[in-house]
Amino acid sequence: MRTAKSIMGEGWVLGIESTAHTFSFGLVGPDGTPRPSSSDTLRPDEGGIHPREAADHHVEQSTRLLSELLVREGLKSSDLSTIAYSQGPGMGPCLRTGAAAARAISSHLDVDLIGVNHCVAHIEIGREQCGCDDPVLLYVSGGNTQVIARLDGRYRVLGETLDIGIGNMLDKFARGQGIPFPGGPVVEKKALEWLKKHPDASLEGLELPYAVHGMDLAFSGILGAANRLIREGNPLEAVCWSLQEHAFAASIEVAERALAHTGKSEVLLGGGVACNQRLRDMCEIMCSEREAKSHVPPRMYCIDNGTMIARLGWLEIKHGRRTELMESGVDQEMRTDQTPVSWP
Ligand code: AMP
Ligand code: MG
Repeated sequence: MRTAKSIMGEGWVLGIESTAHTFSFGLVGPDGTPRPSSSDTLRPDEGGIHPREAADHHVEQSTRLLSELLVREGLKSSDLSTIAYSQGPGMGPCLRTGAAAARAISSHLDVDLIGVNHCVAHIEIGREQCGCDDPVLLYVSGGNTQVIARLDGRYRVLGETLDIGIGNMLDKFARGQGIPFPGGPVVEKKALEWLKKHPDASLEGLELPYAVHGMDLAFSGILGAANRLIREGNPLEAVCWSLQEHAFAASIEVAERALAHTGKSEVLLGGGVACNQRLRDMCEIMCSEREAKSHVPPRMYCIDNGTMIARLGWLEIKHGRRTELMESGVDQEMRTDQTPVSWP
């Protein structure tokens, strides 16, 4: 049974994001308008993200984050009509904390529950924020790197990384240089420093593998080769710059092929790595050369956030789906094309 409030489209949708390092609550209003999330990201002093530690972090932060959000928005729990959560893909222990919180809140308030696909949520918040219609999505995050387009009622993965995600590659490279998680923003800063000091910088002597395999990508080879450049005595700033140039160019090339194959005329960037200005600029250049349009959501909606989960929950509820308690278990391997796309 769906609750009367959600059928009437009266209440607010609360979204819970917990796939990896970030725990976040976000909201959309009864008409689907997004409101900024209340989030906290685990930043370990050393090493990568340990799923169990991240899950503990999420549990510890949840009460504070939710009450801060409701107070900020001037809402009471009785204003909520639906609880949406990331059902997958992601790290099992982390996903389970979000799902458990969602089940508890929806049972307590007796409101609808809806488990959604995290990757599809990145697309839908991007479409809403950028006002784009039918884009090729270049989804570049820590754990995922995919080129996605909507065909026949699903978001199809046209190409993806065959090994690690692009953000994961940047984080691992940075960690090897003593830079804590998240390493991507520091790599960006160092690359810029190199460019400032060497405005006519050349890739000569800084070549790295360029791993485009048809529509797919790979990043572990480039990571090993970047570490080798460091061992050979090249400056860290120079290697950061070369790493970005190679990895981003490869990703943009696959997005360009997807544009050509699908005949679409918009690219949407999403995922944490889409915060990177060099990637944004490269996408803009490629699109302008093809007479296509490049769209990038505000940075707060590129990184993982509860608002995008609320937005997709709102869309799905409006189109008649909800999640029964018995079906609310998480799916670490959930695929982007598993979600039927029934909304325009
Ligand atoms: P996500 O997995 O989508 O939450 O995004 C997190 C990933 O985005 C991490 O791997 C970060 O290092 C990466 N990231 C965040 N900001 C930037 C940036 N400015 N440049 C490159 N990578 C970034
Ligand atoms: Mg993400």
